[in-house]
Parts: sequence; C-alpha cells; structure tokens
Amino acid sequence: VMRQVTKRALRVPILTYHSIDRSGSLISTSPEKFREQMQFLKDADFNVIPLADLVSSLREVSPLPAKSVAITFDDGLRSVYQEAFPVLQDFGFAATVFLVAEYCGRRNDWNGQLPSIPIMDVSSWDEIQEMSRGGVEFGAHTQSHPDLAALSHENAVREVLGSKATIEDYLGREVRFFAYPCGNRSQAVDTLVRKEFAAACSTELAFVNSASDVFFLPRIDMYYFSRNQLFNRLERPSVSQYLKFRRLLRFVRARIS
Ligand SMILES: [Zn+2]
Repeated sequence: VMRQVTKRALRVPILTYHSIDRSGSLISTSPEKFREQMQFLKDADFNVIPLADLVSSLREVSPLPAKSVAITFDDGLRSVYQEAFPVLQDFGFAATVFLVAEYCGRRNDWNGQLPSIPIMDVSSWDEIQEMSRGGVEFGAHTQSHPDLAALSHENAVREVLGSKATIEDYLGREVRFFAYPCGNRSQAVDTLVRKEFAAACSTELAFVNSASDVFFLPRIDMYYFSRNQLFNRLERPSVSQYLKFRRLLRFVRARIS
C-alpha cells in the first residue's frame, strides 16, 4: 500500500537576546520580562530545543517536535549569567551563548560599539565555565567583535579561528557554532566558517525554514518583541507579516539615518 508522506513545513524561530537588565536600552530585556517570556513558552507548549537539534534537522531533513524554538544570546554579557542562566535552569531550557573571546571578563567596549549601547560587564571565564557545566552551549562571536566584511583575510582568520580555539581551551569542548557580529561577513569569512563550524547564525530577521542556509541562519531579535502581545504572535501566521513590516522599517531607518 502506497502511503503519502507529507513533509511538514519547518518554521522555527531562533530567539536572540543580548542583555537581561532594566536599563531599557536597545539590547536589553528586563529580568521580569525574560522570565515572563520563558513562562509563556512553557505555558504555550513550545519545545525549547538545542541549536544542534535544529541544525541536524535541517541537514538530515528530519522532523522536529511541533512548536520548536531555540534560544541564543549574543556577546556573553554578565547579565546573562546573573539573570537569564538561573531562569533557564528553572525551566530546563537549552540555550547557546555567543562569546566575544578576548572580551570575556572585561566590558563590551570593543571598537565600533554603537554609542547608543550602554557599556556593560562581560561574563568572566569562571562564570562561563559554570554555565557550561549547567548545560549552556557556547559559540564563537569572534575575538573582538569587528566588522568581518571589512577585515583582511589574515585578520578574519585570526578573529574566527582564534575565538573558536580560545573558547575550546577554556571549556574543553568543541565549539560548533558561530555568529557573525552584526550579521556581517565576506566571501572569505563564509568559506572559513563553512569549513570550521557546524552552523552559523546571522542577524537576518526571519524564521528558520527547510530552505535556510545552516551557515546563515536567520533569527528573531527579541528587541522587536519587548511587549508580550508581540511575543504572543509567535504562534500566529500573522507574525511573518509583522517581520516583513519590521524589516521594511529597519531598511527605511538605515536609509535616513
Ligand atoms: Zn554581537
């Protein structure tokens, strides 16, 4: 008997957070809001999956549980250790944190940091090791958060491979994932990342679908979901329309500023 197997369309959000603090900055989600959002994921029966599961599903075209979602944090800020890590542990949720390797234990005052972003502490290696033991996965986000599209090949190699090696030295485990600072890359960086990592995240605002490039995975920056009614949209088809609108707005803003 022939059985028709229908492939369910993959549509998975990778959430991006930066800082969990009350400053109200462009990269901040308050601790209360973060806990509420994790509670929402639990109450709405989302399955928080490790990034690795999403990547293997894309590679092997194998199904994921319904309503899967992955959680990432960029820059390794200390507030993630202080505020998000305990909440993730309470809920038993997997997460991936992308580290700026040379800035661990320092502050996020790397060259090219936007003036609108507050200067904040970055987690120490002790804190990172504690989170690693607690099940958090760590990915590379370069050594010093440069614009990778503007670097010489030699410096790009140093930034990409150096950060991978540094994190592996401190954690004693393989670093499988990379995130491009501000989503910028060049052809050479792309080739390097494809050779050295299992997957990489971009800042492109969209859901992951079965056609997504595992080396340029789109994500949902939680800045756009700071209000709960927007977060609730994750469940609805209208969220795609909303993301299109945000992309347009961002594009227009980039033109006029
Ligand atoms: Zn970053």
